[in-house]
Amino acid sequence: MERIYLDYAATTPCDPEVLKAMEPYFLEKFGNASSIHSFGQEAKKGIEDSREVIAKFLGAKPEEIIFTSGGTESDNTAIEGVALANKAKGSHIIISAIEHHAVSEPCKFLEKLGFQTTQVKVDKYGLVDPQDVKKAITDKTILISIMHANNEIGTIQPISEIGKIAKEKGVTFHTDAVQTVGHIPVNVDELNVDLLSMSGHKFYGPKGVGVLYARKGTRLERYMHGGDQERNRRASTYNAPGIVGLGKAIQLCQKNMAEETKFQTKLRDRMIKGILDKIPETVLNGHAQIRLPNNANVSVKYIEGESMLLNLDMLGIAASTGSACTSTSLEPSHVLLAIGLPHEIAHGSLRFTLGRWSKESDVDYLLEHLPKIVAKLRAMSPLYEKK
Ligand SMILES: *Cc1c(COP(=O)(O)O)cnc(C)c1O
Repeated sequence: MERIYLDYAATTPCDPEVLKAMEPYFLEKFGNASSIHSFGQEAKKGIEDSREVIAKFLGAKPEEIIFTSGGTESDNTAIEGVALANKAKGSHIIISAIEHHAVSEPCKFLEKLGFQTTQVKVDKYGLVDPQDVKKAITDKTILISIMHANNEIGTIQPISEIGKIAKEKGVTFHTDAVQTVGHIPVNVDELNVDLLSMSGHKFYGPKGVGVLYARKGTRLERYMHGGDQERNRRASTYNAPGIVGLGKAIQLCQKNMAEETKFQTKLRDRMIKGILDKIPETVLNGHAQIRLPNNANVSVKYIEGESMLLNLDMLGIAASTGSACTSTSLEPSHVLLAIGLPHEIAHGSLRFTLGRWSKESDVDYLLEHLPKIVAKLRAMSPLYEKK
């Protein structure tokens, strides 16, 4: 059976060139990068070369790059690190209502320690209004964290404008750029950010490795305690193969981005139009233009996302839903609720995300089979009968 992967936002396969670049660091260059001997120094060289590539890509300095175990650790370090380092100054944090759990959960944890969080609302497209952020700032605010693009609906936030406001008010500003790095241009000065998270496995690098960019002078308590790696900012033996793979993945994205964006945007729009045209009573979630080039998120009324996913999977198509499947609860995604979808429509949502190896024929296959699946499920749906 043909297998079609339309879930690149969940994770990407490793690019074969990335794997090739990593291989020597598992085998002959396996040394501990903190060791003085030549084995260690070879590993260190690979790490520092990667650091330079990543810094350049982000418009940052090499010493502002902290290697972590992924997006989640970068987000946790940014949120808890800033909160704990600025405790004397204030205890108020601002995030949006549609952040990834890697941002909202550390905030919840900090609330137990006496910090307060304000969640600014988003509009029906999932956009944050920078003026709402401005209004939420108090003299106790120590951190603002707003994601660059949303992982479910793909909406891209006005980060640069929010960053300008944060700078004017002297508040540290973090963005979770896990969904944008490698897919659209990301420059820390243009975005006016102090801290930025990224993750290797979202742009054809390996899993379990990421970066926290921290602008020079940003007050940050360490998150991982132990050895003195990363200028005493993050302990644990260097993941040399992962870090080298991350650098290689960035280089490939840099080389391919313009072309990939163009191709994926066209394919995305054909996929969205195809779904909306071929299946009655479907809606697009997120903004039609201000969205990631690879993201399509639609709600199909009267049926459940999970049933559609299972049926798609039987035909070899891998996608994702914003409904209960991501957790053990029956609550639909907080993102879909935040953009104002009623529960029953949020439950019927599907996310299709494209990537480096997506083809026109993948979308043809989807557009051939999805309408049939929907028709079959609707025929069995009591909600559809009642309408
Ligand atoms: C995937 C993702 C994360 C988590 O990154 P990991 O490397 O899997 O820990 C955080 N934020 C966003 C927006 C993501 O899409």
